[in-house]
Formats: sequence, C-alpha cells, structure tokens
Amino acid sequence: MSENFTQNSTLKTQHSFKLPQFGTTIFTVMSQLANEHQAINLAQGFPNFPCSDQLVDLVTFYMKTGHNQYAPMPGVAALREQIAKKTALLYGHLPDSNSDITITCGATEAVFSTITTCVQPGDEVIVFEPAFDIYAPAISLCGGVLKPVALSLPDYRLDHELLAKSISSKTKLIILNSPHNPSGAIVSHEDMLFLEQLLKGTDILLLSDEVYEHIVFDGKKHHSAHEYPDLRNRSFVISSLGKTYHTTGWRMGYVIAPKALMAEFRKVHQYITFSAHTPSQYAFAEFMKDESQYLGLNDFFQQKRDLFLNALKTSRFKVIPTAGTYFQFLSYQGMSDGNDVAYATQLTAIHGVAAIPVSVFYQEPQNNHMLRFCFAKDEETLLKAAEKLCKI
Ligand code: GLN
Repeated sequence: MSENFTQNSTLKTQHSFKLPQFGTTIFTVMSQLANEHQAINLAQGFPNFPCSDQLVDLVTFYMKTGHNQYAPMPGVAALREQIAKKTALLYGHLPDSNSDITITCGATEAVFSTITTCVQPGDEVIVFEPAFDIYAPAISLCGGVLKPVALSLPDYRLDHELLAKSISSKTKLIILNSPHNPSGAIVSHEDMLFLEQLLKGTDILLLSDEVYEHIVFDGKKHHSAHEYPDLRNRSFVISSLGKTYHTTGWRMGYVIAPKALMAEFRKVHQYITFSAHTPSQYAFAEFMKDESQYLGLNDFFQQKRDLFLNALKTSRFKVIPTAGTYFQFLSYQGMSDGNDVAYATQLTAIHGVAAIPVSVFYQEPQNNHMLRFCFAKDEETLLKAAEKLCKI
C-alpha cells in the first residue's frame, strides 16, 4: 500500500517553479554553519541579549486578558496612533493614523507587500548594491526587472550620476535603504535632495527601507524620506519594531505611505497575512510611549561598535567604522586571496567566528574581500569574537 501511495504521488511532469535561480538565504546558511561548528555567530543580524522585561510583561498581559484574535487588517489603532506621533516627533510629518499606516509581519512582509503592490511584469526596479537579499526575489516573483546601481567604494556612497543614468521610461520603483544593510552607510541630506529633484515630475515610486533608523553613530543624523515632501508623497517608508526593540522573532514592522498608495498596499497585505500578531501590537502601543527606548539606541549600539573595533585594533582586518546599523564591514584584503564565501566558511570552521560574505548581495558576485559582522551582541561575545579574529 505504501508503495502504491509513493508511486501514485510521484509527479509525471517536470514542473517549473517560481524561483529556480535562488537558493537558501545566506543568513540561514551561515547560522547553520555557525551551529555546526559551534562558532560565535556574528553572521545573521539579531541581538543575543534579551528584550525589555516590561515589554514581555505587556505582551503576556494582553494575551492573558484575551487579546488573542485577529487584529484589524491595518493594525491596532492605538499602535498606529503612537507610530504617527513618533513620526511627527522625529521627522516633522504627521501621517494620518487611519489611512497612512499599516502594521506588518516584520519589515520583511512590508517590503514584499510593497514590491508586490507596485511591480508589474517588465517594470524596472532600481536597487543599490550591495543589496539586502529580500528585494531581488520579490521583484522576480512580480516579473520585474532589477536594475542594480553599485554604491561607490570604499564608503558605499550613492553615485548620483550612475543613479541618474539608470533611470528609464520603464522605471517603476527605486529601493533606497538607509542606514544601509549590509554596509552600514547612510545617505546624506544632499543625497536625499538630489533624489527628490531627480524624481520631480516623474511617477517613479520609492520604497524607503529605514529599519535601522534609530541606529546612527558619531552624532550623524538619519535622513528619512518623511522629511522630503516630494519624496514622501511617492514613498512607502518601512520601519521595524523588531530591530528597534530587540524582538526580531516577533515579526513586527510597519509601513507609512500616502493614503492612495496605502489603499493599494492594503489590498495586497490583506491577502498575504491579513494582520499581524495582536497582543504584541497592544503591548507596543503602550511601550512606544517611552521615547527614551528608541532615542537611546544610537548610544547603546555605538558603545558596542566601539568596544568591538577597539578589541580588533591589533587584528589584520582593515576597518572603516560603520556609520549606522548594527553591522561592521571588515576587509581581509592582504590576508587571503580566496573569495569571500570560501573565506567566511573557513573563518567559521577553523577560527570559530561566523560572518556574512558581502558578494552574495550583488547580482554579479564580485570579490571585494569584505565580510559583514553583526555587533548586536553582549560584551563578552564581542570580546571573545575579537580575540579569535586577532589571532588570525
Ligand atoms: N536582517 C538580518 C540580517 O541582515 C536578518 C535577516 C534574516 O535572517 N532574514 O542579518
């Protein structure tokens, strides 16, 4: 009987599926490799320290008091109101909490739903490379054409001329990501003004991925699309509660867009996840009232970056201190000629520290001898990792 079942279930046709050119994400691959070799995992970007107890208590409270069914499709109203207030406080723009804000299952769903909302077959989407790895597959699923624009080394700056040249009559969407994952670079006020000017009079939309908005160092400032009226009016601005409150496992993010764009976004969001985790939304609505939680994040992570870089002073890796995010690039130029995937594998297996090879963030892999390290870790972990890296 079981044999029959196996035979009957064997497919006769060789189907073609939707993402043949994509494999498992580098984050899963490197985390698995780190576990296998019991290496310190500075690869996948997540904190290894706990989130706030008070926040956990609030989620528990809302679970125990019966907030366990579907949230409203756009999100719990009280949370959207807090987000509107915060946006006004930080960026001087008060979005309408009813029509302009939607709570999503992580920023990942926000990005996927935005791309799905905007991109039709043949549409061109401009993406700055190296690019976080969730943009390309979503564009591909929509039949869009990814137009990579390389950020300029060594500091991963936006090349205005290259960007201007890459725009065509088919450009539907530009994906901007600042603070930038993986490089940690941030766009300048001049970059934002340039982009605003460049897009004036066009119908090009902007996806502004700002999930690291609260993690910017050395007194620098995050420049949000919210602050530039002509960008804001064409933008889906994406933020992450997971990144800001050390709760990446809760999958909580949000999108802000003008009413007409948000109406289209919600048509997609409602059929992908319908709504996000209810008790967490009530908890965040209360917890977000404490502004110090996100205003203190710059200093909190700068201390970690500085501790890590200080501990690496005697290492052979070359460093440009990261401007934002909780990622630091280290160059192994002069230490090995191998490609970065091989080097990252070797680093994990032999030296006991896992990092992300940067070439995977390009359409055409290139070897810049660069690895990305996540420093959202407790002091002990960072010092141990640095000690291992200094021995190489
Ligand atoms: N954003 C995190 C990173 O860049 C993790 C992403 C993921 O695991 N999907 O490492």
